[in-house]
Amino acid sequence: MSHWVPELLSPAGSLEKLKVSISYGADAVYCGGQKFGLRSAADNLTYQELEEGVSFAHENNAKVFVVLNSFLHDQDLDELPAFVSFLEEISVDAVIVSDLGVVRTVRNVSNIPIHLSTQASCLNIQSARFWKKMGVQRIVLGREVSLEEASLIKKETGLEVELFIHGSMCMAYSGNCVISNYTSGRDSNRGGCAHSCRFEYTLEGKENSGVKKELKSFFMSSKDLKGISVLPDFIRYGIDSLKIEGRMKSHLYAGTTSKVYSEALSYFSKNGHFLSEDLYSWKEELNKVTHREYHEGNLVEKAGVDSIYSERETEEKEFVIVGLVLQVIHENFMLVEVRSSFSSGEELEILPFEGEPITFKTESLENVAGEKFEKTKPGLLVKLPLFEGVKKWNIIRKRIEQ
Ligand code: SF4
Repeated sequence: MSHWVPELLSPAGSLEKLKVSISYGADAVYCGGQKFGLRSAADNLTYQELEEGVSFAHENNAKVFVVLNSFLHDQDLDELPAFVSFLEEISVDAVIVSDLGVVRTVRNVSNIPIHLSTQASCLNIQSARFWKKMGVQRIVLGREVSLEEASLIKKETGLEVELFIHGSMCMAYSGNCVISNYTSGRDSNRGGCAHSCRFEYTLEGKENSGVKKELKSFFMSSKDLKGISVLPDFIRYGIDSLKIEGRMKSHLYAGTTSKVYSEALSYFSKNGHFLSEDLYSWKEELNKVTHREYHEGNLVEKAGVDSIYSERETEEKEFVIVGLVLQVIHENFMLVEVRSSFSSGEELEILPFEGEPITFKTESLENVAGEKFEKTKPGLLVKLPLFEGVKKWNIIRKRIEQ
């Protein structure tokens, strides 16, 4: 007997990352086209890439949601109907929207399911009921909502609810912020967030004695969300979809987070419970990708002062991606595109779609023409020995020397 588990929704900042996330177990991915989304610096997908991405996803029983969550002005709306019609034509599974004008436009020209973006900051039942009347089928709840509140919104409205389980947090109400507009001239509500909340600021004030005081501080930079410890509660509360933040993040991040959460969900689906040692090993795996200090946000309790950095934020990572398997050439070799350089003799790890990493050393390095070399460069295609279970889109990583 299998037990109910939520959908796992992973980021797809590019066509390649879409394929990586799905190959590592995502049930659905979210991505942006060239316009109308909130990540103008991501490698957003072209029309052709969107079509290829949807075919790849559907062949692998996964779904694609396209973000249209920028806040648009009238002139921006002109091109939207044609884009929405194209998305319907290629069978995109849903669009993610924040703006009422965009909701109406999508409804007028298509039958694509609409998910309300977290950017709309839906935090309560009344607001969710309003959006339901407007034709929304799923709410991506604001990151300020707890698991318990999310389950109540679902129960009272009958809507699907999606909640972030992992990734960067935003100090403002899910992006409703204009700091970036004033500090960098970039509009965070139209895809240009410059992460100004991560900067150091100087606070000036006076003590009771009247003496002027200056304090340099990072008082707005949120720690990252990691919800693996409360995954059993996500399931218990019936949250429909677990969202991983990070369209701007690396292939290693997309692959590792998708693999960890997907393995955890499959384990629960088979066994109906978690073992604490497994939860521990999944947590450890999540420490290997680049992250700020982790926190559980508002999932269980209201996030307090310890969810924000007071001093310079620290970034931690244990591994870096060195290559992506592009092809299994024949039974002895795989063709790998180098992402960061490595040398012969270095210890590397292949991250398979399921199970433990495969550790190996590269004794000799050669390209497809058979030329041998000692050190690789990013972009190079190299032949490496094949190991059992290695497949196209597997990530190869190496430990960073501390
Ligand atoms: S600058 Fe920071 S708080 Fe503002 S939208 Fe960007 S991430 Fe959020």
